[in-house]
This record gives sequence, C-alpha cells and structure tokens, in this order.
Amino acid sequence: MTQAAGPITVARLESGLADAYAAVLCDLDGCLVSGETALPGALDFARSCGDRLWIVSNNSGDTGQSLSERLVRLGFQIPAHRILLAGEHALLDIAQRRPGARIFLAASAQLEQRARALGLIPLRAPERANDVDVVMLARDPDFGLGRLSKMVRLLASGAELVVTNPDLVHPGADGLPEPETGALLAALSACWPELAYQTIGKPQTALLSEALRRAGVSAADALFVGDNPLTDGLAAQRAGIAFLHVLPPVPRGPADPVASLAPAIQTGD
Ligand SMILES: [Mg+2]
Repeated sequence: MTQAAGPITVARLESGLADAYAAVLCDLDGCLVSGETALPGALDFARSCGDRLWIVSNNSGDTGQSLSERLVRLGFQIPAHRILLAGEHALLDIAQRRPGARIFLAASAQLEQRARALGLIPLRAPERANDVDVVMLARDPDFGLGRLSKMVRLLASGAELVVTNPDLVHPGADGLPEPETGALLAALSACWPELAYQTIGKPQTALLSEALRRAGVSAADALFVGDNPLTDGLAAQRAGIAFLHVLPPVPRGPADPVASLAPAIQTGD
C-alpha cells in the first residue's frame, strides 16, 4: 500500500473509503459523532473498517472504557484498547515518568478514578503548595476561579504543568461550540502568559504512535481521518500518515473559532 499524495477532502464518511489501509486512525467529534449522535455515514464507515479502526481523540473527559460503552449506545462496536484519548494518556504518561506522583487534577471524576488506578495520588485540597508534583489540566467540568487560583499557586511553587490538549472547542450537538481544554488553558495563560507546559494531544504525535504500535502497522500503511487540519491534519503530517479531511458540520455562532483563536495558544512543542 502506498501513501496518498496529499490530503483528500470529503463532505461525509462512507463505507469503503479506507479499504486500502491496514490501520485507520480516526478522530471522534466531528467525524464519527456530534454530541450523542452518530454523524451521517459514520456507522457504515466504522463497520467497513472493522477492527482496523482506532479512535485517536483529544477527548479529555472520558476513559477508553467509558467512551467505548457510550459508543455502543450509538451503534459503534469499538473496544477500549482501540480508543486512545488525550486525557487518559496524559495520566499514563505521568504515571510512567513519575510513579506515585502527587497530582492536582483539573479534570473529570472519571479521570480522577483512572489516576488512582494508575498509582497516582490525586490531591483535591493540598495543605501546602509544594505538596503537589504535577498539575494536570483537562476538560474540567467544574473549572472556576477557585481552581484557577489554586493552580497558579501550585505552579508558582514548582509543580509541573501537563495540559491534555490545546483544542479551544469542539462542535456541540446543536452546532454551537462546546468549550474544550484549550479554552481553560487560555484562562490560565491570561494569568501567566509565559507558562511552560507539556501536552500529549494532537497535534503532538504520541497518540498516533501508540495506535500504530498497538496495531503493528507502519505509518505508510495507515490513514488518519479528521475534521480539524490544525490538530488532526498537522499530527498526521508530523507522523507521516496520509490524511483524509472530513469537512466539519456547518457551525452556528462564531465563525470557525478554532481557526481564529488557535494561534494564540502555544502547543508546547
Ligand atoms: Mg474533531
């Protein structure tokens, strides 16, 4: 199999589009689903890919297991080990680099449970700022001024900052933008513009490399399917994987907020 000469753009997914590839790495929001709805053509596409399909998403609220169970309800049969998510893999990376680290999580309860299962020590209310080794910012449903202020103080005391992904928004079920981790990072960056951090989500290639490793497939034999050229397209290019661009649903509200605000966010390369 040979890699396509350049990105191919389609308006929607359909059966057979990826038949030439040994592994199909696919973004989730805006490609297969929008909110709690399967997008037109997505179920046929997923069925035609079978076990060649891998989800590679900057989702930072779910775990692979919780997302797999949610996708079953929409008609997708994708086991947890074929789902690679920025939030969960940021935790895996921290647990590998800093076993048993004390971590302040701006994240969902699901990721807090996952952190404990990986041997990390989540601290909700550390007594002293230097009690925390790592601050991790994900798509925190309870983000607010109190947590933002706490993060600034922990980072000032030398904690390492890990940001799961830089996305500002993803398309919501009603067509309006849903805030993502990057929107929370923008708030933190407004308080501390020169803040240094690590990130694992696209456009970094870590999730793509892990999917290829698990699949046992080389980059030249894989396809990446995504709706966002700034994250999906760039990650595919960096990893040497052919890119299939799915045009996102027509947005309501602000015109293309991802494209207009993305240059303000440093991705921590
Ligand atoms: Mg997307």
